[in-house]
Amino acid sequence: MARQQRMRVELPVVLALGSNLGDREATIREAVRAIDALPGVKVVKASGLVETPALKPDGVDVDAPAYLNAVIAVRSAIGAAELLRELQGIERALGRVRGIRWGDRTLDIDIIAFAGPPIDEPELTIPHPRANERAFVLAPWLEIEPDALLPGHGSVADLLAATGEHPDPYPAEPLT
Ligand code: ATP
Ligand code: CA
Ligand code: CA
Repeated sequence: MARQQRMRVELPVVLALGSNLGDREATIREAVRAIDALPGVKVVKASGLVETPALKPDGVDVDAPAYLNAVIAVRSAIGAAELLRELQGIERALGRVRGIRWGDRTLDIDIIAFAGPPIDEPELTIPHPRANERAFVLAPWLEIEPDALLPGHGSVADLLAATGEHPDPYPAEPLT
């Protein structure tokens, strides 16, 4: 058993976390701890936090509470579908209620990239189909992986430059 565990292949994964309700920083911090505590999953690196206005289907909503976002690099011995289920469990445990699309939430965890072939299903699309245009994902990702590539789109540095956005760093103690 121990030997099998040692031999499990751990694949690199990039996760994005966001919160715009409640104690946003505490929730993201707790989520990073909970992800690291998942069997077969360990957090390798965590970005700083950035703060950006809420994005709704009609555009930026300055009346909605702003988001804190971070990106973490993870190694996972569990597959993408199982990891997503675990992450959704953490979202629920930390107060996520699913309502309207892109509605305010205590916690959102998206799988941005997962080593291996792309996955193209509504319940799980990898790479994340909107990561390429989201500065609040690209900027923290670039911070922890300066050479990162988003499969199918190119370098994270170029993608971030193309957004023309510079998310505000949010001062906080390191997440890990
Ligand atoms: P967006 O995906 O645009 O960031 P969202 O995070 O607000 O929007 P959710 O309501 O959290 O969307 O998730 C909707 C569904 O997206 C989930 O039920 C999940 O099955 C699916 N999904 C597809 N691909 C992914 C992915 N890469 N990471 C997380 N969820 C995904
Ligand atoms: Ca999301
Ligand atoms: Ca999500």
